[in-house]
Amino acid sequence: MHFLRSGASPPVPMQEELVAQPISIAAEQAGIEKEGRLTEAEGWWAQQSWITRIVYWGLHASLLAMFWVGISTADVALLAATFFARMFFITGGYHRYFAHKTYQTSRPFQFVLAFFGCSATQKGPLWWAGHHRVHHKYTDQPGKDTHSPRDGFYHSHQGWIFESRFDGSALDQIRDFAQYPELIWLNRWHVAPAIALAVFCYLVGGFSGLYWGFAVSTVLLWHATYSINSLAHIFGKRVYATPDDSKNNWWLGILTLGEGWHNNHHHFCVSARQGFRWWEIDITYYVLRGLQAIGVVWDIREPPAHIVEATIEARAAQKQAA
Ligand SMILES: [Zn+2]
Ligand SMILES: [Zn+2]
Repeated sequence: MHFLRSGASPPVPMQEELVAQPISIAAEQAGIEKEGRLTEAEGWWAQQSWITRIVYWGLHASLLAMFWVGISTADVALLAATFFARMFFITGGYHRYFAHKTYQTSRPFQFVLAFFGCSATQKGPLWWAGHHRVHHKYTDQPGKDTHSPRDGFYHSHQGWIFESRFDGSALDQIRDFAQYPELIWLNRWHVAPAIALAVFCYLVGGFSGLYWGFAVSTVLLWHATYSINSLAHIFGKRVYATPDDSKNNWWLGILTLGEGWHNNHHHFCVSARQGFRWWEIDITYYVLRGLQAIGVVWDIREPPAHIVEATIEARAAQKQAA
């Protein structure tokens, strides 16, 4: 097992160090550097915004067919399976691994995380994680944050995705992972795993399998994921005095397998665990612990006690006592 571990995940650098790293040789060879910013990692066809729009709104429009397409128990099972499995690869893979490097894994499993993350139809891992790192750098600073509700609810939820300034992958933010040629390839061909999933759903459940397991599931997955960028910065409880609007929201925590503890996450984003307390249900973290038990991932980062305890209430009590 140990030979797989070498060279997979470098130690967790600070955000500033990531920016200062030299452009990777793999990225240079792939010819995706342009004027100092590596913005063409998606290839020509994916830069055509009309394709994204047709797929995005087309799948939304397909929801109207719900009244004509039948639904069986098998369809419901497939819908739940494709929704929650892909949600795990978004939260456990794209978010907690690629964006924040909150645990370590082998290079093969790193690819597995990226591959199934792509099946969620939320573009490639470098695109997703690169823009997310900008969100953490400038959280809720109007005009600077990738998707702050202070720039409008629609913008924070889904509008930002269609702005041309976010078309490319901000690879200058994610040079640590841009050094892997297989990730650059997957980031460019991110639609392949999504198409493979659609074909799989069709083979398993016929047309209704394709409809519920891919079309409906993908739309629900989009909005559940995007709710963290929009709703979790508006509704919920603030436990920590972070310099942003992030909130803890239990029902978003259930729906997104642990991402709803968003104020916790902004308080200490290098932790793989986002539900800091036992009752803050964080399914992604439990799955990661399971993967650690069988040796697939390791070095899962936990929040230290003094970070967990530094709540708004605790600080207020301390002030009163002083
Ligand atoms: Zn994050
Ligand atoms: Zn946030």
